[in-house]
Amino acid sequence: MISAQVQTAAYLFASILFILSLGGLSSQESAKRGVIYGIIGMAIAILSTVFGENVEGYVYILIAFLVASVIGIIVARKVEMTSMPELVAILHSFVGLAAVLVGYGSYLDEHTIQLTGADRTIHLVEIFIGVFIGAITFTGSIIAWGKLQGTIRSKPLLYPGRHVVNIILVLIAIAMGVMFGRADGTEAMMELYIMTAIALFIGVMLVMAIGGADMPVVVSMLNSYSGWAAAAAGFMLGNDLLIVTGALVGSSGAILSIIMCEAMNRSFLSVIFGGFGEVAQGNTVIEGEVTAATHEEVAEMLQEAESVVIVPGYGMAVAKAQYPIFDLVEKLRNKGKSVRFAIHPVAGRLPGHMNVLLAEANVPYDIVLEMDEINPDLPDTDLVMVIGANDIVNPGAQDDASSPIYGMPVIEVWKAKKVIVMKRSMAAGYAGVENPLFYKENTDMLYGDAKATVDQLNANLLK
Ligand code: NDP
Repeated sequence: MISAQVQTAAYLFASILFILSLGGLSSQESAKRGVIYGIIGMAIAILSTVFGENVEGYVYILIAFLVASVIGIIVARKVEMTSMPELVAILHSFVGLAAVLVGYGSYLDEHTIQLTGADRTIHLVEIFIGVFIGAITFTGSIIAWGKLQGTIRSKPLLYPGRHVVNIILVLIAIAMGVMFGRADGTEAMMELYIMTAIALFIGVMLVMAIGGADMPVVVSMLNSYSGWAAAAAGFMLGNDLLIVTGALVGSSGAILSIIMCEAMNRSFLSVIFGGFGEVAQGNTVIEGEVTAATHEEVAEMLQEAESVVIVPGYGMAVAKAQYPIFDLVEKLRNKGKSVRFAIHPVAGRLPGHMNVLLAEANVPYDIVLEMDEINPDLPDTDLVMVIGANDIVNPGAQDDASSPIYGMPVIEVWKAKKVIVMKRSMAAGYAGVENPLFYKENTDMLYGDAKATVDQLNANLLK
């Protein structure tokens, strides 16, 4: 058992480690260190809470700890990099659910019932807001999980007058809050139930209304919500560390959401209120013919090109093609060619997805460039290899006002002298939009699974 002072010191130390962890995660070189700080901080947080004053029921805590650890280890070991966003989404839902349960538990707690005056009012407000944010996070994250998994279609679900319905529901929730604050003891259970039902519904509708290419913002937004839900739980439990940690996650998630919105040229509020993907249907007729190249031809082009830019996308992640791609890059660089990667901020299914995969395959950081850095160089590039990417290289985002992704900045690969698109078919990407790039004169398709194709190119380059 540790004293309250020692616990406060441990919490402070853990908070500092969490801040260092977030700082470390901001660049690839320091990310591993950041994760280690996070693990140590969390270990200190858990131990100093469990061994704090007034903690009972160690057997239950131990059982919960063991069961959760086993599940956590199994899930973390099994999860594919491509399924990471789904895992993150479902974990956010747990934070939301935890905040709801803490809220209900706190309301029914003897200590709350005995509170009087301002103390009670403040505590009830904490409970009410905590349950509200928690419930929205819970169902919103489950819907995001479904959309990322593909079990729920990614098109935005919209119905006329939805904003009015949402406003009415929020007003009812506020009225419930007033009644909840005034009721004695645990008399306002019904108000709490009604507000929870409303928040659960809003969570579903909020994420259902956001479509296709705006999903990255939803993921980071729910990340932010889960932080605020945790902070709310911290207020309810009077746990300073939970408040600090929740606020860190909440604000970093909000900043990430704004960065993602800027990257996609979307207004933050419009994404939150949803319905962007519905604006246009992308019904422009695409002119031109699709041409395909063989592995031998592409190997030949690679031999001849002086400068090559590789644009990886979700398909590279699915195929796990980053390892053979690195071999290919090494071969080309050994021949004295300039080879660089172009990374779009929303490539893949997770912020920073491509950077993580390339780092995993030991690709040097200095040849991995951001979209804004590489775009001006593309007109002077001999060959661009688009590997399993689609939406992020769609010229329609710039010149087709009817496209659902119109306005989203893209990597301007079509400006290069030659473009090779490696994917399995003519299928659309996540946003479900046709890609005029495939029809351009300087573009050839190289069909097949990304990994198998790169393996074959590697073999051809050896000849
Ligand atoms: P896209 O989803 O646009 O396209 C990926 C392409 O990869 C598909 O067209 C598919 O074509 C191809 N592909 C799939 N499997 C393979 C394989 N085994 N081998 C080769 N190709 C394959 O991906 P992008 O990375 O270009 O764009 C990301 C999209 O995801 C954007 O719309 C973004 O908004 C959205 N998104 C991003 C998130 C993020 O945080 N980064 C989160 C959620 C959504 P085919 O089937 O023909 O092979």
